[in-house]
Amino acid sequence: MKKIAVLGSSGSIGQSTLAVARSLPRQFKVLALSVNSDIVKLKEQIEEFRPAIVCVRDKEAAGRLKAQVGPLTKVLCGEEGLNELVRDKEIQQIMFAVSGSSALIPLINAIKSGKDIALANKETMVMAGPIIMRLVKKHKVKILPVDSEQSAIWQGLAGLDQTNVRRVYLTASGGPLRNLPANKFRQVSIEKVLHHPRWKMGKKITVDSATLMNKGLELLEAMFLFNLGAEKIKILIHPESLIHSMVEFNDGVIMAQLSVTDMRIPIQYALSYPQRLPSQLAGIDFYRLSKLRFEKPDFKRFPSLMLAYQAARELGTMPAVLNAANEESVNYFLNKRINFLTIPKIVEKVMRAHAKIADPSLGQVLAADAWAREEVGRLGY
Ligand code: NDP
Ligand code: MG
Repeated sequence: MKKIAVLGSSGSIGQSTLAVARSLPRQFKVLALSVNSDIVKLKEQIEEFRPAIVCVRDKEAAGRLKAQVGPLTKVLCGEEGLNELVRDKEIQQIMFAVSGSSALIPLINAIKSGKDIALANKETMVMAGPIIMRLVKKHKVKILPVDSEQSAIWQGLAGLDQTNVRRVYLTASGGPLRNLPANKFRQVSIEKVLHHPRWKMGKKITVDSATLMNKGLELLEAMFLFNLGAEKIKILIHPESLIHSMVEFNDGVIMAQLSVTDMRIPIQYALSYPQRLPSQLAGIDFYRLSKLRFEKPDFKRFPSLMLAYQAARELGTMPAVLNAANEESVNYFLNKRINFLTIPKIVEKVMRAHAKIADPSLGQVLAADAWAREEVGRLGY
């Protein structure tokens, strides 16, 4: 029985993780949960899974929850609470399904306290990939990728290192705006952007799927996770989202990972690795599958991809700046302050204004992140 913690348990990946734990009660014991402020969902989860510890980021919501749960559940709060939770001695593996960059410090503390990490959150890896990977090595913990593309690459590699790899095809569904003509992008509504054709996910990542910044972030994530140069990673639009990425080896052999479009599959593998536990999800019905399509990405309609490749060439603090400017701009878009086209424009302006630091320390990464957010504010949208 593996004792796990699920951070971001009220979100899309968090709930899917609990669905996996629910389906395999003899394999996984949920010892800790965390949310930002959704204590209604958290309370339901406490009643079902009986975790020993929970953490609510929002202090006021944490206070309200304390009044509602019994003495068997310890309620922590704030970032300090999350940092205490990840150090708990009993926890063996932690699912990081918190969205955004706020997960970085808890992630680093979890690694330092020897926990294996199931990593869904991609923003932290983009910000501080080299720092995280150095700590992973030093503390001899595992990072088990959850993002479906990274899981596919990891499975395709099957333990081989980057010297065996000719290239990686990072597949993308193309998102909700794949077929939208260029002249329609300015007026595109939030509702249309949030209507993803293949995946049901949190709002931030769904907007990123529409700009294709999600794929840009995954490019950087893959570079750091698998020690690959950007020139080895090709983004490939694959609307059916059945191939979750492919690894082409030096000898021309290509390993593709296929499965139905359901995050419970990579989540379960990240939790059960190296075992393949049974799943109630169906495989792919190849008799009914008529075709698999592949297209080149359109860098003109989706300039976020160019920006991500630029950050991938520059590295240092640039990926953190790309990520922070993007998070802020996506918030502006969701709050109706800017139109869709302005999201990459802001990111580009902030990247252009940034004086990059090569091989930054954690402090310099955090400072670059804060600077980028302030710079977005200074642009005055
Ligand atoms: P959601 O928005 O659905 O969920 C986010 C979770 O994080 C919620 O539990 C939320 O709590 C919590 N949270 C948000 N902000 C904070 C904070 N500042 N401090 C503590 N907790 C916080 O996101 P997703 O589940 O879609 O995505 C989670 C991560 O996984 C993202 O980094 C995303 O890029 C990545 N990912 C997601 C995929 C998907 O299919 N959804 C696929 C691949 C990667 P509350 O509900 O209280 O706000
Ligand atoms: Mg993905």
